[in-house]
Amino acid sequence: MSDKKEQNDNLQPKPPVVVILGHVDHGKTSILDFIRKSKVTQGESGGITQHIGAYQIEHNDKKITFIDTPGHEAFSAMRSRGAKVADIAILVIAAEEGIKPQTKEAIDHIRKTGTSLIVALNKIDKKEARPQKIKEELAGKEIIVESMGGQIPCVEVSAKTGQGINDLLEMILLMAEMEELKASKEIPASGVIIESNHNKQRGATATLLIKEGTLTNKDIIGTDTAYGRIKTMEDFQSNPIKKANPSTPVIITGFDKVPQTGEKFSVFENIGEAQTRVEKHKSKTDPSSEKEILHFESDKKVMNIILKADVQGSLEAIKKSLKTIPDEEVVLRILKAEVGDITESDIKLAESSQARIIGFRIKPNSSMKQIAQHRKIRIDTFEVIYELIQTVREMLSKLLAPEVIRHNLGKLKVLALFKKEKDRQVVGGKVISGQIRKNSLINVIRNEKKVGQGKIIQLQRDKKETEEVSKEQECGILFQGNTNIEEKDILEFYQEERKKREI
Ligand code: GDP
Repeated sequence: MSDKKEQNDNLQPKPPVVVILGHVDHGKTSILDFIRKSKVTQGESGGITQHIGAYQIEHNDKKITFIDTPGHEAFSAMRSRGAKVADIAILVIAAEEGIKPQTKEAIDHIRKTGTSLIVALNKIDKKEARPQKIKEELAGKEIIVESMGGQIPCVEVSAKTGQGINDLLEMILLMAEMEELKASKEIPASGVIIESNHNKQRGATATLLIKEGTLTNKDIIGTDTAYGRIKTMEDFQSNPIKKANPSTPVIITGFDKVPQTGEKFSVFENIGEAQTRVEKHKSKTDPSSEKEILHFESDKKVMNIILKADVQGSLEAIKKSLKTIPDEEVVLRILKAEVGDITESDIKLAESSQARIIGFRIKPNSSMKQIAQHRKIRIDTFEVIYELIQTVREMLSKLLAPEVIRHNLGKLKVLALFKKEKDRQVVGGKVISGQIRKNSLINVIRNEKKVGQGKIIQLQRDKKETEEVSKEQECGILFQGNTNIEEKDILEFYQEERKKREI
């Protein structure tokens, strides 16, 4: 194994690893798709045949690696494990919409991880696009783009027409050059698990992104939770490969278990060492630390959902309707809106972000149902958009604090004090207005000021239990509360009704 000095001597430029972040619907997927379609050269198996979470392109004879894991799964997981995956983050903002909650979250993430930033103002083809306004909004968040005198590059793009996409790629390469991104090829590989799943035929399968070193197809690798000797190693287009260098995404099989997204992996000299790492980790982990609840810049309650639908048209219609739900008190956050079946990665995202999964005209298959049940993730499926929207409204309504309606009953003037024990006190008095009832709450008023509160435990008239006492009548009560009642205090009796509210 090389020592540190030798590693430094062997550093060589590596392709930048780029992640695309931003609010739902601002065009992350469209930009990634546009780049992939126009820039990925067809491999032996013909383009990209499966979704593996990352791909690599060539632009001006230089490579760029894109991580296309949608939503936040990988990032929340990676952040909680302290792994910085990308060298450069592209913050996508729809030029006709501006900064939205998930844009803020992305900014937060970029700051926390110290990733270099390029802003992409997307949908510039739209006539409502207002790039200048968004640059000003960004300045308000201390992101000063170049044209406003700052340091952060900002490119105007359209994923629809392709306008500006080449500029974006050039900017990525320029930034990579300026930052002198380098890694050593000469050491055993290490990196991050980008995506993972269990494949019926192939067993545990994972997409690895190599950060340092060279991975060979015979290596023994391990994370904190899984290990094994590599059985198969493929590039992102499913072509078998023998070696992979820094910044390369590869698909491998051979792990004993499915490793977790966001975990770091490294190469071991023998199986025993890899196994020891897993065991050591097991003995010190607290299962709750694995879960990072996505942080939201607000004190409002938030409901996260993952939306899966049969076709793009339904998805658009549902998103549009969901946007009309008021969000003054509780916020509905769509972490991911995609066409297709509910997958294990949806369930993992739901788990890491405490989200609910909502399906439209799709049904989870039995193994997904089992996984969801096991992980206590709720999946609701619908056939009618109206019903879906209604259910989401109901779920949000449940998060609303109930409305408390106060019903004033009557007042009693305290004339005599009897027993007092801890927080309980027996007093006698006369009802001076309205009537008083059992099961009431009480405010204690002295010299027209509230001095304490409590509730009534017993109500007696002529030494007998009673339900209600009216004006001018005298009675005794057992009071429980936080104050010492004195003679001449006024006790205000009231009841509270808690009413569910609806959105
Ligand atoms: P994501 O949620 O950020 O991944 O957003 P998507 O890529 O799914 O895009 C959301 C919607 O915006 C889709 O209907 C896209 O067709 C549309 N869209 C994305 N980019 C552009 C663009 O540059 N111009 C226009 N006019 N529409 C776009």
